Amino acid sequence: MAIEKSMRVERLKSRAEHCCCRYCGGELHVRQIIFHTQAAARVELYCDQCQKIEYGVEKEIYESAKACVLANNFNHFPDLDDNEQRLQMNIAKLSGLLNWQLKYLGLIGEDGFKIPVQISEFGMDQCTTIDDSELDSLLEEASQWQKQSSVQED
Ligand SMILES: [Zn+2]
Repeated sequence: MAIEKSMRVERLKSRAEHCCCRYCGGELHVRQIIFHTQAAARVELYCDQCQKIEYGVEKEIYESAKACVLANNFNHFPDLDDNEQRLQMNIAKLSGLLNWQLKYLGLIGEDGFKIPVQISEFGMDQCTTIDDSELDSLLEEASQWQKQSSVQED
């Protein structure tokens, strides 16, 4: 029992190193937490900034969730006021979903990513930015394509 418990603590310690809070992106710490309803203290990962027990996600997942929420105005909570708290809840929501998906695809495990991660933040920006001079030729190209495809349909 004691060995099992210390293994769990070691697992949480290493998790605290490569994971961060889903809400604020802050550091996680291994803390002993005393519950009113339970006799023994429990060891959990904890976010000091949010003051809550937080198992966390990989830092890269948090960063990509944050970037995605901001770039796409992702909002899972339409009934809430638009403020910092809602932003954090949306990042946490998307972090959870991304975490779920990466686990489902077998790309992350308890020790983090199983494959090397290459953040392509710059590439993402380029995808959504079109120069004015490029826009005209892109639109021209698109209208040509439309004409061609409608010809084919007839
Ligand atoms: Zn936090």
